[in-house]
Amino acid sequence: MLLHLSTWAEIESFLKTSRTVVVPIGSNEQHGPTGLLGTDWLCPEIIAHEAQKRGDILVAPTFNIGMAQHHLDFPGTIALRPSTFMAAIGDWCRSLAHHGFEKIYFLNGHGGNVATIEAAFSELYAEASYAGRRTGFACKLRNWWDLKGVMGLANRQFPTGHGSHATPSEIAVTQWAYPDAIKAANYAPQIAPTGPIREAGDFRARYADGRMGSDPGQATPEKGGELVATAAAALLEDVAEFGAEANP
Ligand SMILES: [Zn+2]
Repeated sequence: MLLHLSTWAEIESFLKTSRTVVVPIGSNEQHGPTGLLGTDWLCPEIIAHEAQKRGDILVAPTFNIGMAQHHLDFPGTIALRPSTFMAAIGDWCRSLAHHGFEKIYFLNGHGGNVATIEAAFSELYAEASYAGRRTGFACKLRNWWDLKGVMGLANRQFPTGHGSHATPSEIAVTQWAYPDAIKAANYAPQIAPTGPIREAGDFRARYADGRMGSDPGQATPEKGGELVATAAAALLEDVAEFGAEANP
């Protein structure tokens, strides 16, 4: 079930059966010469939307802008600073909690978001602690590549040149969902260099075409479909487990 294609009355009745909601979250940032700018928000969205076709979960609109300041020297990247990102996550959670959602599950598509999403959760819990009340809700963060079976499959599909940015696995997922948007390029070198992440100018100087350690030329829509099927099944299990956690 997709929240944005539902009415308020449908959400009100969903709340009578479940208090759990899944929020895909990512980033809109450059992904090398062939990766879509939306890759990091498209991947969790594609997986969550596939999962809701197979199981009874509610998926909220995708939170599609995140921590991408280091990619800003590549056109099309849109970034929030950490304080803005945390404030926005806080209000998403407060809004959902206001309706009675108690388990808010963020399916993340961008490693650079992790520290700030966790900090946003801590802010929400601190708010309740200082006010001397129970939050009444719990937040959970899961990166889509950490869902059961996904990284093992990606390692078998791409034993070399997976890398850490503009990876063949994430690009394969978007190719499966958006075959009309598949791009081609000659990669030089075939496997991109790796190194640290600092500010935007430093990043562009180190990683000329935007990739880090990856060879996205190995991506195919078929491999993407296998990743989505594995991830969607694991997501349903993970969300069910989170939803069943008892509040003490
Ligand atoms: Zn990415």
